[in-house]
Amino acid sequence: MKEFTCIVCPRGCRLTIDDKLNVTGNSCPRGAEYAKNEVTNPKRMITSIVRVKNRENTVVSVKTSTSIPKGMIFEVMEEINKVGVDAPTHIGDIAIKNVLNTGADIIITKNID
Ligand code: SF4
Repeated sequence: MKEFTCIVCPRGCRLTIDDKLNVTGNSCPRGAEYAKNEVTNPKRMITSIVRVKNRENTVVSVKTSTSIPKGMIFEVMEEINKVGVDAPTHIGDIAIKNVLNTGADIIITKNID
């Protein structure tokens, strides 16, 4: 039996899941799905920053296009730290395509002229 808080929406339901993946405490089906994924294959979105190579002391914010396996967060962060982009940047530009074969791209989330 595990207990945790659902982070899918701001309501923050307190979820309980047993060894047979029966979920209680969820107010909607998304909570049950979240609880099952959290036990069998936990995933997280990542937000970070990337260096802008052609601007002095400038970084741009990035995020994963979809959630990645929780166990790969540090490896993905290392890849993000290696890369640099050139300005101008636009929201939605891809800094890294399919990072470490996770199926997630690293997407720029800020415009820099
Ligand atoms: S179970 Fe549903 S209502 Fe409750 S926090 Fe999760 S997504 Fe929101």
